Amino acid sequence: MEIGVPKEIKNQEYRVGLTPAAVQELVAHGHQVLVESRAGAGIGMSDDDYRQAGAAIVENAATVFAQADLIVKVKEPQPEECLLLRPGQVLFTYLHLAPDPEQARLLMASGAVAIAYETVTDAQGRLPLLAPMSEVAGRMAIQVGAHALEKVSGGAGILLAGVPGVAPGKVAVIGGGVVGTHAARMAMGLGAEVVVLDKSLPRLAELDGLYGPRLKTLYATAEAVETAVIAADLVIGAVLVPGANAPKLVTRAMLGRMRPGSVLVDVAIDQGGCFETSHATTHDQPTYVVDGIVHYCVANMPGAVARTSTFALTNATLPYVLRLADLGWQQALRDDIHLRNGLNVAQKQIAHPAVAAALGVEP
Ligand code: NAD
Repeated sequence: MEIGVPKEIKNQEYRVGLTPAAVQELVAHGHQVLVESRAGAGIGMSDDDYRQAGAAIVENAATVFAQADLIVKVKEPQPEECLLLRPGQVLFTYLHLAPDPEQARLLMASGAVAIAYETVTDAQGRLPLLAPMSEVAGRMAIQVGAHALEKVSGGAGILLAGVPGVAPGKVAVIGGGVVGTHAARMAMGLGAEVVVLDKSLPRLAELDGLYGPRLKTLYATAEAVETAVIAADLVIGAVLVPGANAPKLVTRAMLGRMRPGSVLVDVAIDQGGCFETSHATTHDQPTYVVDGIVHYCVANMPGAVARTSTFALTNATLPYVLRLADLGWQQALRDDIHLRNGLNVAQKQIAHPAVAAALGVEP
């Protein structure tokens, strides 16, 4: 099969659909891989790196889309990319179609088969192709939070790790899923005093089993959240209620009771945010201050670490890309109900019930 990797064209997107190592695996399976020139530039991978892995480099996206049977990308196709798709061609990428009726219309009109990373499931009901980006965002949350605690960023001037004779900083992580676990792990690694709050007792028990007495776990009643937030130097918002906007767990009134210069990092901002005072920011201007509290609310945190994010994403997607290429999309989806859950558009219709419901169309 011919597999195509165009350069990402969405503003500020530096990731790429396949790494050279992934290309090498596909070539070893007997496939041809076409990569648009400079597709890997944003992660420090040259055209020669891709050539050495066995890819053919082509000058423009139009050639990739014209020749490939399977297109592997990162971000949802932009309108000009949708117009390059053709009937029966398979697109494998993040789509996030529910809030994007225009993209849905263009994809249906193209006649292509669109499989979305974000709705592929696993045997435990988790989302294995979203998890790597949550891992990245969770770990990064502590890095950006630690920076925001510095005076130059408007922070209280606290070193999370402390030093001998000075207590470490306090970190409260609200939501102990993928983001929260990775944030807690990073914060513990720095030596901070960490508490995780969650509504799921099984999840808290798992975290307790994993980290023992180094990690304090608390059931997330409103009272427990308020007490932990007021005591914390750094609060990470990491809750998710699937399919819904994030609940507002930290109110504006609580900010006035925190130490001035404390920091809120709202990773859940892509679901509307879990702090009342959150609004989405960008990497160009990631923070703002409300009532003396520094807020960091970047909706696409993994984009800042595009190289790590690309490797993490490709590690997760490659087994599925191999199956789609080896078996063809119809057989691959017949064989694997979880990959089938990724099917969003086929035969000019929305094929995923929840996505169809969100868009108000017939599945
Ligand atoms: P997850 O499903 O693994 O974890 C969410 C956790 O929140 C669960 O353990 C759940 O029990 C808990 N929870 C739900 N309601 C709660 C409440 N009221 N109080 C306390 N805990 C509650 O989800 P995840 O992968 O960790 O993602 C978390 C959020 O981060 C999502 O909104 C996701 O989209 C977002 N995210 C953002 C970025 C970014 O760049 N900003 C990147 C990746 C993920």
